[in-house]
Amino acid sequence: MTPENLIALAPRFARVVLPLPIEQAFTYEIPETMQGRIAVGCRVEVPFGKRSLSGIVVELAEKADYARTKPISELHETFVPTPLLELATWIASYYGCSCGEALQSVLPPSLRRAKIRARPTGMARVADVTLRRAGESSDEYATVQKKLSRAKRQLALLTELLSAGGEALVPVILEEWGYDREILDGLVTRGMVTIEAIERISPLDALEGRVEVLTAEQNDALSRVGDALASRVFSPILIHGVTGSGKTEVYLRAARRVLDDGGGVIVLVPEIGLLPQATARYRRAFGDQVAIIHSRLTGPDRFDIWERIERGEHRVVVGPRSAVFSPVKDLRLIIVDEEQDESYKQDDKPRYHARSVSLVRGRDENLTVLLGSATPSAESLRHAAEKKYALATLPGRVGGGALPEIELVDMREEHSRGQIFSPRLLERLEKTLGDGHQAILFLNKRGHARYVQCNACGNVVMCKNCDVSLTFHRVGDRLKCHLCGYERASPQSCEACKSRQLHYTGVGTQRVELELKALFPDTGVLRMDADTTSGKEGHRHILEEFSTGQYPILLGTQMVAKGHHFPNVNLVGVVSAEEGLNFPDFRSAERTFQQLTQVAGRSGRAGTLGGVVIQTYSPEHAVFRHLVAHDYDGFMREELETRRELNYPPFARLVLACCSAPDAGALNAFMESWASAARQLLARRNVAVLGPAPPLVPRVKNRYREQILLKGAINQGDKDAVMAAYNDLKARGRGRSAIELRWDVDPETFL
Ligand code: ADP
Ligand code: ZN
Ligand code: ZN
Repeated sequence: MTPENLIALAPRFARVVLPLPIEQAFTYEIPETMQGRIAVGCRVEVPFGKRSLSGIVVELAEKADYARTKPISELHETFVPTPLLELATWIASYYGCSCGEALQSVLPPSLRRAKIRARPTGMARVADVTLRRAGESSDEYATVQKKLSRAKRQLALLTELLSAGGEALVPVILEEWGYDREILDGLVTRGMVTIEAIERISPLDALEGRVEVLTAEQNDALSRVGDALASRVFSPILIHGVTGSGKTEVYLRAARRVLDDGGGVIVLVPEIGLLPQATARYRRAFGDQVAIIHSRLTGPDRFDIWERIERGEHRVVVGPRSAVFSPVKDLRLIIVDEEQDESYKQDDKPRYHARSVSLVRGRDENLTVLLGSATPSAESLRHAAEKKYALATLPGRVGGGALPEIELVDMREEHSRGQIFSPRLLERLEKTLGDGHQAILFLNKRGHARYVQCNACGNVVMCKNCDVSLTFHRVGDRLKCHLCGYERASPQSCEACKSRQLHYTGVGTQRVELELKALFPDTGVLRMDADTTSGKEGHRHILEEFSTGQYPILLGTQMVAKGHHFPNVNLVGVVSAEEGLNFPDFRSAERTFQQLTQVAGRSGRAGTLGGVVIQTYSPEHAVFRHLVAHDYDGFMREELETRRELNYPPFARLVLACCSAPDAGALNAFMESWASAARQLLARRNVAVLGPAPPLVPRVKNRYREQILLKGAINQGDKDAVMAAYNDLKARGRGRSAIELRWDVDPETFL
């Protein structure tokens, strides 16, 4: 491909950014053979020490700053479009990393070229027409399910095929869905699936005929999007609509409009939502024009897709956060589905937030950016309230379906006190299982935080400065705030009601599982948590097992809340709603509401009215009050008021700087000096410097950790100044080379 910005007079040197944590670019000589072919954005291979590295040309030069430059050894075909280079530069400065590190995110994970191999072809189709039409709700399906009960992967593939409309391209099955060829061949041998030569999917057939008439709210939302698209100026729009209100339908139609007009679209979906059900509709609607980027894709495949997108062969890209960097031709629209989802924030360097990056990309490239959610983030709601984003609401389910009925159980009552299961939840569980339905039990647990709560009145011991619960540290029997460092001894009795019935929380999934097995000895229980889902496929396997119906109960942490749709689930039991709520994070109420809404949505999705039972020690908490009424807006109004008072996002910005070192004393001394340097630097800037304080997990792999939190109207200059102070202190003190920094701008977790 020929970059547009080739310049006529070929310069002799190129400045190349390398994937290293070093700020500067390196100068290389352009060999004769490449003269005139190298431009800004080109990907090149260069010698670096004894290694050879892939880098990106960011500047051309007539002269080199020093005499002995090495020549570029290879010029790749791939090219990073200028807007993406600029985006990488923004990421580097905003999130505080080097350009090379930012570019690593922008580029697909593997820069190795895919081996050229014969690409599989053909269309796999479920052989039984009745089954294809009726999908998973037919007798035919039950028969197949029985036949394949010992071939779980085959059943999973068949089910996936059905949810994708009965057919899919063979390369899609193998590459995107991640099935081995043998699984597919197995179904073919059984005669359940046929493979035929490709009949091209017409890009036009898809939408029409499925959903005929949009609701008034959908029409309104779509016409806003249409106007925004036509204007060709940066237009952020928030779509707030309950689950099942028809948001996806609006996304699909908006994308269709863009395609009809010759443009391109990026759709971001949460990591865990990348289950086939979430993406099948895009595939159905756009056929080969859509590229679905799956976290299961390996590097070379991903690179292959990246190149196809770059060449304009895919005009719609659906994928997790990294898909925001897709080099889509003539990009007009970015859709961020479930915009509140935590998986949009990257945990490693660069710690970018894909929603923020979408908005920046939208601003720089004049795009329409559609943020959609049933429970929008506080950030987006505030922007909508201030009219920075247009707001479209879809308040009801399409067809007027009822939202599940949510019931609270007060665990402080005598017969529930101290028990894992209340009599009410047990009664509902017995009934559900007796009726042949399935149940999901949910523990709202995050990380390892343990806090102290009163069994009698539900009061939780809180920090006096931060409005987060204090975390129990076994060492020294102390309660600590990991945001500001405040600490105190554990109280002997409840400060609210004087009861001595204090308990230290921390019921795990394993204990609940044991208890369930004792109560329901003949009932299969699937447990899904960090321990049972290790490995790439663990999570998926458990969901598949549950969908076969052999296990009546699925028990787990937040992983059970999203993803698959299980038509047979009629009861959702929230075993402990408190732990998420009392997690020492200012977003814990917001997250709890979002998670409980999501998990409640698993109940009774196939027409029947589902039930949700939530066990809690604090039923009067705002979260539960509003949750029962399905009133997210009401909850958020109160929540935003609290955030404003305490100066938390979205009213302030945060930067979390966590350092680690093998020597606790040296680390603490360093952090104290850094914090006081930062305080001096920011004294006049309306930015608070909190800490140093221990994070929730104060030691990891024999390295101690301490953190500082910057809070306030932080701007780029503030960040740069604090970072400079760090570099300065680190260079000056002896023995400080072992200190490592984790710099997190707009942090989403405080672990
Ligand atoms: P959401 O994304 O908000 O959860 P969806 O777009 O998935 O909602 O819509 C929920 C269900 O309603 C889907 O099965 C969809 O096909 C259907 N649907 C959406 N809009 C309409 C409509 N206007 N008329 C009939 N059915 C619709
Ligand atoms: Zn009490
Ligand atoms: Zn505190």
